[in-house]
Amino acid sequence: MKTPPPKKNNIKPFCYAIISDIHGNLEAFEAVLEAVSRENVDAVFCLGDLVGYGPNPNECVDLARERSQIVIAGNHDWAAIGYTETDYFNIYAKVAIMWTSETLTQENHEFLEKVPLLKRFNDKSIFLVHATPKEPEQWHYILNYNEAEENFAYLPDRFCLIGHSHVPVIMERNSSGKINAYRGRLFFNNDCSYIINVGSVGQPRDGNPLASYGLIQHDRIEIKRVPYNIGKTQEKMRKAELPEYLVERIAVGR
Ligand code: ZN
Repeated sequence: MKTPPPKKNNIKPFCYAIISDIHGNLEAFEAVLEAVSRENVDAVFCLGDLVGYGPNPNECVDLARERSQIVIAGNHDWAAIGYTETDYFNIYAKVAIMWTSETLTQENHEFLEKVPLLKRFNDKSIFLVHATPKEPEQWHYILNYNEAEENFAYLPDRFCLIGHSHVPVIMERNSSGKINAYRGRLFFNNDCSYIINVGSVGQPRDGNPLASYGLIQHDRIEIKRVPYNIGKTQEKMRKAELPEYLVERIAVGR
């Protein structure tokens, strides 16, 4: 038998599915979990916003509890349980969060109360947060190079996985501080650090309505897209009398 070639570094191989911003969209969530079950993942991590916008908040919380090893909190989760103000929410988001608060079971309400704001895996050099590493509880966005640069300064680990904007993007910072942004798939460079937005399962906003999630391995990140029955989700949203604007946007991914 041949001896395998020597390993380049001492990082043990790993593969995690990263899901975020499910927003009560059960059809999208089930389709993503079905796709994840066909990958050889060690664990599923959920970056928050399980609820808000969509018609199945309880079913999505139940499924996240059952299928993810880690769940952290998003702003809509906190808004639904009264932990954060909704002044900055647009009117549609506000209407949806009021409906969500009334719909959440006591048990799921209590579960969301206990969900942490962030999580670190020092051994894998992975940091999980819904919005930004700089001020997680302020729910800021990282939408441009300046905001990325500001937040790279606060990375406690080499990899920071985020959601919140619903726009998937891979941001890479090299040792001289230069930041590049990528889409789709990227192999990691040993001397770079990363802020990776895995996009949204339940309400993508990058013009692509397919559900989005991330697959991170020791040497690469891949953003995957999954089709689901959008019409079925829309039908449920209309039945629940959620704002028509929210019903229509999931079909266009905006
Ligand atoms: Zn969200």
